[in-house]
Amino acid sequence: MAGLTSTPPAIVVLGPSALPTARRLQAALPSATIHALQGRATGDVAYSELASHLRELYSTGKPIVALCAAGIVIRCIAPMLANKGVEPPVLAVAEDGSAVVPLLGGLAGVNVLAREIARALDVAPAITTSGELRFGTCLLNPPSGYTLASLDEGKRFVSDLLAGASVRIDGDAPWLDAAHLPKDESARHAVRVTPRIVESGGSDLVIHPHAVVAAIDGPAETAAERVREAMGANGLAPVSLAALLAPIARIGETALEQAASELGAPLRFIDTGLGRTGMAEDRCANNDPAGTEMASTERALQLLHNALQSRHEQLTHTNGIALAVGAEPIDVGSLGQARGRLDVIGLGPGCAELMAPAARAALAEATDVLGYETYLRMAAPFGAHQRIHGSDNREELQRARHAFELASAGRRVAIVSSGDPGVFAMAAAVMEALDGAGDPRWTTVEIRVVPGISAAMATAAQAGAPLGHDFCVLSLSDNLKPWRVIENRLRHAVEADLVIAMYNPISRARPWQFDKALEIVRNCRRPDTRVVLGRDVGRPGAALVTTTLGELRSEQVDMRTTVIVGSTMTRAVARGDGGEWIYTPRWYED
Ligand code: SAH
Repeated sequence: MAGLTSTPPAIVVLGPSALPTARRLQAALPSATIHALQGRATGDVAYSELASHLRELYSTGKPIVALCAAGIVIRCIAPMLANKGVEPPVLAVAEDGSAVVPLLGGLAGVNVLAREIARALDVAPAITTSGELRFGTCLLNPPSGYTLASLDEGKRFVSDLLAGASVRIDGDAPWLDAAHLPKDESARHAVRVTPRIVESGGSDLVIHPHAVVAAIDGPAETAAERVREAMGANGLAPVSLAALLAPIARIGETALEQAASELGAPLRFIDTGLGRTGMAEDRCANNDPAGTEMASTERALQLLHNALQSRHEQLTHTNGIALAVGAEPIDVGSLGQARGRLDVIGLGPGCAELMAPAARAALAEATDVLGYETYLRMAAPFGAHQRIHGSDNREELQRARHAFELASAGRRVAIVSSGDPGVFAMAAAVMEALDGAGDPRWTTVEIRVVPGISAAMATAAQAGAPLGHDFCVLSLSDNLKPWRVIENRLRHAVEADLVIAMYNPISRARPWQFDKALEIVRNCRRPDTRVVLGRDVGRPGAALVTTTLGELRSEQVDMRTTVIVGSTMTRAVARGDGGEWIYTPRWYED
């Protein structure tokens, strides 16, 4: 979809009657998520209040497709409109799919999205933008790979055209071929597509293709400044920069990343077969500054040649920077590789509303998602462009290694865990793989751990506040540690009067261990000690049981249960609905 922001839209529904249309839209926009009002309908994400949810989506720049009356959407978002800044596409769609009304985000491609949705629903979109109606395209919203030089000049240009001016096209603008423009070779007004800075004289629409590639050598700290200077000296517009290239040996240099973000261009790494070029050692080895600079510039030029393999027409080089300039946007993905990324994501206990927005965002950005099949189902839906690598639950280290292989080749990888990824889960496996890595490329991968709500927290919240005072978390699985260690830790935890949250309490392969653990606890704690059992918390069929240590039986517990054994202080308080809350006070009495 040309010109459309790459952020996947949120399809917002208020009730079940809108779900069939929402699903049709999701089929047409596979990376979109359905946001449904909690208690009324079930989608991928639940929200509790429409107005605040729409405002939050809007403020984060998320395209909104609301399946409700246009008026409701306007009223909800109105308070946000005074603030300039991001204006994502906002559309109202009739819940029966009979009308598609673009409301906001003309420059973010709302009409493109409206046409796409209308096509999927087989209706005509309610386009109201004059320029768009007249010319069949929004001139101020060029496709991705192009940037408008000045919005103010652009608006004047469009109103001149609407007032009857004709136009010529100067440069390559293939997306305008199908537009109904009043073309005239000798027109005063021109659409000018060029990577160079041009004086528009008030009558041109200047559009810059991202058609410049800059290869850098020498110190990263001055790279941004040197690129800007080189571009300036060649009359190139800063927004024409499509990518910054560096040798693969410099992957992971923070200052280089900073330079790229300052220049607003992605950083790509090229395999040159050379070492770390242009670093301090090289410069010291040569006392002749002019000679050093020439060598550095030569290396930058070589880098550029390696990356482009003479696909570009014009090259210039100076001061450790080599520039290639073309007429069309560069396919950045074809230039070497990006620095790989590995996000280790906690999904929370299982439902979308208990998943951190940061986890959802990291999932949306991933090119590859790895995980145990059950967790992958929790993380769905995925976009058509995402590769999903499911595996068995036990293959954690192997999965971590696979993730590193993909990420060190430049892919954006997400590994998913239920709950928190750092609690008996993939974050530790990833660190273990890194720790034992024979491959130096793995250390260049940008790793991020996105926390999640762990099963003990999710279970405790259902019960009240059993973890309100000191507690410990123990896994009863003796797959990766000897059983005697588990017994020893349990004994100490009971003696220390900690509340104990037990994970992995029992499995078919470990049938007797839970009873043995209970025996240890019962030796030291009274039979009336409070116990909470949370099974499949946050998932379909969730169950919460509160009982006592004396009554607890291992048949009540399975691999999907978290067991919280209270301390001597843990107690119950009556709930209004006849049940009871379990809590551990914040204070302690001996
Ligand atoms: N990383 C996970 C824990 C993985 S160990 C987390 O932070 O939650 C797996 C154990 O976690 C299970 O045996 C069970 O004891 C517990 N568990 C995971 N999800 C659960 C859920 N939804 N409800 C109850 N217990 C759960």
